[in-house]
Amino acid sequence: MSQHEWHADTLGVRAGSEHTAFGENSEAMFLTSSFVFENAAQAAARFGGQEPGNIYSRFTNPTVSMFQNKLAALEGAEFCVATSSGMSAILACVMGICSAGDHVVASRSIFGTSVQLFSNILKRWGLETTFVSLTDPSEWKAAVQPNTKLFFVETPSNPLTEVCDITVLADIAHQAGALLAVDNCFCTPALQKPLSLGADIVVHSATKYIDGQGRCLGGAVLGRKETLEPVYGFLRTAGPTMSAFNAWVFLKGLETLHVRMEAHARNALALAQWLEQQPRVERVYYPGLTSHPQHELALRQQKSGGAIVSFDVKGGQPAAWYLIDATRMISITANLGDAKSTITHPATTTHSRVSAEARAAAGIGDGLVRIAVGLEHIDDLKADLAWLSSTD
Ligand SMILES: *Cc1c(COP(=O)(O)O)cnc(C)c1O
Repeated sequence: MSQHEWHADTLGVRAGSEHTAFGENSEAMFLTSSFVFENAAQAAARFGGQEPGNIYSRFTNPTVSMFQNKLAALEGAEFCVATSSGMSAILACVMGICSAGDHVVASRSIFGTSVQLFSNILKRWGLETTFVSLTDPSEWKAAVQPNTKLFFVETPSNPLTEVCDITVLADIAHQAGALLAVDNCFCTPALQKPLSLGADIVVHSATKYIDGQGRCLGGAVLGRKETLEPVYGFLRTAGPTMSAFNAWVFLKGLETLHVRMEAHARNALALAQWLEQQPRVERVYYPGLTSHPQHELALRQQKSGGAIVSFDVKGGQPAAWYLIDATRMISITANLGDAKSTITHPATTTHSRVSAEARAAAGIGDGLVRIAVGLEHIDDLKADLAWLSSTD
């Protein structure tokens, strides 16, 4: 009899769970910093690695392990390392893979703090990064050096939702002897599985859709065990581990990931289509729209357009701010991945540290507004943005 394989939604609910002798159905939260040994010999065997088992929660913790195993099942990864935040996941990934004197090629359109990490902090420790266009593979090819170790990319991008071909970039990376890491925060494994498209590493900010309700910070690095051994080694030694409490929250979040992402994306598509019809809207950026320049690639690579919709409001910054201040329900905050819809003005918040010229070159205009579409009813979202319909 052939083995029945669980569907992704079932993996989200069931994979990775382990239960204690008490018979709890909801996974237990192990709030303990260390673990007790039966005797001195067992302590020595655990520390020496001859006997598997928990020692100390900076190394491993059962609740964190359950989270890691569940997320690994969803991403189709052999191994997962959970971290204290999305940024510490990216840091651990680079610290594990690269050394001083190495070179990284990264997309220009990655999360603003990731740009700062590569160009301000890691640079001081001898790691050089070349930033290139997300969508032009020839720039990635041209940026390769003999010491290039890592390609780093985020697709779709923030806030313009540009998409790159993961398989094409993976081929270029592998020809250069480098690894491709994909920040899969916007899609989550419910909508996109970079490892199955050729990427070597996936990083996550679990803070976003994996939590799904804006409560905790966390992150993860996923890939082959052999590749991630030094990433785990960095974590165990340097210490930006995920707390058991946060892992428990994320375990609950993953149970509903698939239904949430479907509902987020359904709302986002409906809102994007409505926005395209509004007189005060100049242009809408959403991979699920046929007007998106990479619509076909996006839908080949992703299950849907995702839940981030950006648009240019006619009238520049004053109009964008007027719209944001006119909302009564949508939260004015830069976070995303929450059941609550959020609205932000990238030019004066998330991208305010980018120079005006660089912003203009990247296509982030003063009238650009980003909405991370939540789970409220679509009619209420439209009502909250009704100013866009007025022409006076
Ligand atoms: C938020 C975010 C991060 C950073 O995650 P934190 O959990 O805030 O540290 C990294 N990448 C992307 C795409 C993000 O949206």
